[in-house]
Amino acid sequence: MDAGSGPAAPAAAAGSQGNLILIVEDNPINLRLVAGLLKTHGYRVIESATGEEALDALKFVRPDLILMDIQLPGMDGLQVARTLRQDPERRGIPIVALTAHAMKGDEERAREAGCVGYIPKPIDILSFPRQIAAYLADRTRTTAQG
Ligand code: MN
Repeated sequence: MDAGSGPAAPAAAAGSQGNLILIVEDNPINLRLVAGLLKTHGYRVIESATGEEALDALKFVRPDLILMDIQLPGMDGLQVARTLRQDPERRGIPIVALTAHAMKGDEERAREAGCVGYIPKPIDILSFPRQIAAYLADRTRTTAQG
């Protein structure tokens, strides 16, 4: 049997299977919600409550995507994003900002800090999995721009 000769997995399921996502979020309720949603959709999840903790974790793991709360105690999410963008080993990991302030300026600041996009809080649990899948599908293109 040649396992490689069969048809590819359905596109809808293929994107999320086993992808590893780092969530950086200091609010435990939001963290539970986001982590639970992602696990339900087949993602593997790492959780950090602070930016410093996330930077430590990133010494040992390489997630496919980082969901970064902007308002964090200590280093804020934008500082963490800038730090990662300056690290040749980790700059290729796409970062999506999470912020409670759905204002135009925040999206711009997130992009300037190196985030590939922005998801406003409170998250919409219906569209959230689609947004994540879209960012993962985009990552080759977005990271190729350096
Ligand atoms: Mn926060």
